[in-house]
Amino acid sequence: MCTGFFGERGYEMKKNIDDLAIFGGSPAFHEKLHVGRPNLGDRKRLLERLNDMLDRKWLSNNGPYVQEFEQRVSDMVGVKHCIAMCNGTVALEIAIRSLELKGEVIVPSFTFVATAHALQWQEITPVFCDVDPKTHTLDPACIEKMITPRTSGIIGVHLWGRPCNIEALEEIAAAHKLKLLFDAAHGFGCSHKNRMIGSFGSAEVFSFHPTKFFNTCEGGAIVTDDDSLAEKIHLMKNFGFSGYDNVIYVGTNGKMNEFSALMGLTNLESLDTFIGVNRENYNSYSYGLRDLPGVKLIDYDHREKCNYQYILLEIDEAVTHVSRDQLVDILREENILARRYFYPGCHKMEPYRSYFPQAGLVLPVTETLVKRVISLPNGTAVGPNEIGKICQIIRETIEYGPEIKERLSDHVALAQVVKYFDRATESETPDWAEKMLPL
Ligand SMILES: *Cc1c(COP(=O)(O)O)cnc(C)c1O
Repeated sequence: MCTGFFGERGYEMKKNIDDLAIFGGSPAFHEKLHVGRPNLGDRKRLLERLNDMLDRKWLSNNGPYVQEFEQRVSDMVGVKHCIAMCNGTVALEIAIRSLELKGEVIVPSFTFVATAHALQWQEITPVFCDVDPKTHTLDPACIEKMITPRTSGIIGVHLWGRPCNIEALEEIAAAHKLKLLFDAAHGFGCSHKNRMIGSFGSAEVFSFHPTKFFNTCEGGAIVTDDDSLAEKIHLMKNFGFSGYDNVIYVGTNGKMNEFSALMGLTNLESLDTFIGVNRENYNSYSYGLRDLPGVKLIDYDHREKCNYQYILLEIDEAVTHVSRDQLVDILREENILARRYFYPGCHKMEPYRSYFPQAGLVLPVTETLVKRVISLPNGTAVGPNEIGKICQIIRETIEYGPEIKERLSDHVALAQVVKYFDRATESETPDWAEKMLPL
């Protein structure tokens, strides 16, 4: 019986540091575990609907499946209107345009880059605002400081499905006569004070991209209670057509197609199952990582509806020794494809980095978080066994943190020498390579 470095488990044990894949051991998983592998609903129902669509030969332009999908989503969210779209980004762009945002709009930098791009794409300046270290959503105290005479609105992001400080944002928006829009790409199926996400602000935007826990292949939606806004959005997403030959507005093509809608209808039938699996997985991670110093698992408000789709850790390197990036590298070598969401922050991405090179000065929390967080695999692709293994690797990596950190820095130095040497042998060996080789 082996009782080793990684304890007794029913799988290939890691007996010491050398067994970590990053140091040449065999990976813990033979297949790659992704953070967001698509959740798929009942295939039989999907194919039935697909056959129905093919028989009907109605593939797009407000077909019966799109209408049914929009009805289901608006019922679920508790709003009057759902306008289904081809993806979340176009939905954001259209929502922004329909609200007539212009000049400057306040957004978090700690979000997927589409939130900022949807503004910049229409030459509206995203003004990056810092987030609350606890909730990771816009910090109301920072928003006020970012408001200028050019500010026309605020886009809050319910990051990881945890609601923004909605009441505070509503108050600020009202006091300064700003429009309030929410990027709810992570918030489908979540609630705030027992009211569904999707029903706040002037409108909210969902994404149904396959990396999200609920998908329509590609897709998104705007949800709103505002009748005239909904009417405008319907026109905008369909070239401004108000009848067969009657264009009354400038528009684009943001329509959801029938296949996406039937995929959505089918996946909606399994929504509770997907959420149940996510919740179980979250509990498994919570148990597997309990009392681990320097590692904090995201907390969700269990009194609210919640989709539990993000398994997010915050790594405090001062305690763990191993850095967040080193942990990501270690896990990736084990075929656990952990992600650094949303590194390095929108303000460090082009074109924003060039426009606002100093933006980081007012984003201290964002700058800290992007170096600390790591997102782990979740969804129907993983279960308790995989999670037990993942947690064990994280635990042991942190237990042997100082030693691993040292080994890794040697490892990096060695890899660099090898790389330089490979490159050097392509031509003649330069002096500096000679100097480095004895290392
Ligand atoms: C995924 C995502 C989007 C974009 O949605 P797509 O459907 O991929 O276009 C926008 N904002 C956030 C926060 C997201 O995570």
